[in-house]
Amino acid sequence: MSIETLTSAVRNIPDFPIQGIQFKDITTLFQSADHLKELSDLLYEKYKDRGITMVVGIESRGFFMGPALAIRLGAGFIPIRKPGKLPYRVIEETYTKEYGEDVIQIHEDALTKDDVVLLHDDLLATGGTMLAAYNLVRKLGVKKIYINFLIELEELEGRALFPDEVEVSSVITFNV
Ligand code: AMP
Repeated sequence: MSIETLTSAVRNIPDFPIQGIQFKDITTLFQSADHLKELSDLLYEKYKDRGITMVVGIESRGFFMGPALAIRLGAGFIPIRKPGKLPYRVIEETYTKEYGEDVIQIHEDALTKDDVVLLHDDLLATGGTMLAAYNLVRKLGVKKIYINFLIELEELEGRALFPDEVEVSSVITFNV
């Protein structure tokens, strides 16, 4: 299956959730068993030899593919969540969004210094969310971090936020 086939399965919703945003709806991509299998295969092939021990997914759309990928890679799964959701002791990171500030949290004992982490989310826009997640995971002192998205909005240049030594990859790219 071609990347174009996967790309055309993403539904574009103009002006959602606010005016001016072209929302990339991945529910139409996940609806097809063939597309889902292809996504899983592509991600597995890319990361199978990297020694990934933990997939870390960002609430909430990073929870769709994250655990499925963790199972295929023989890795564990760790959630990064919004405040008030994780029951044990947490560390947190505050970051600036278009309208005000946001906070994300991870359990303080979620990762160890021996972990090789695949940080995963559905979509890279400005990169603010993933940068906060990257900083959060770094605070726990892991061995190595890879970053992955299903979709990248290239024109927003979110990947420029990450240091050169961090491999950032995405399956589908859009220019708008
Ligand atoms: P950002 O921090 O700007 O990179 O935004 C990334 C987060 O916001 C991801 O968790 C996405 O789920 C969501 N997001 C941002 N822009 C869009 C968009 N155009 N379509 C769908 N989701 C988006």
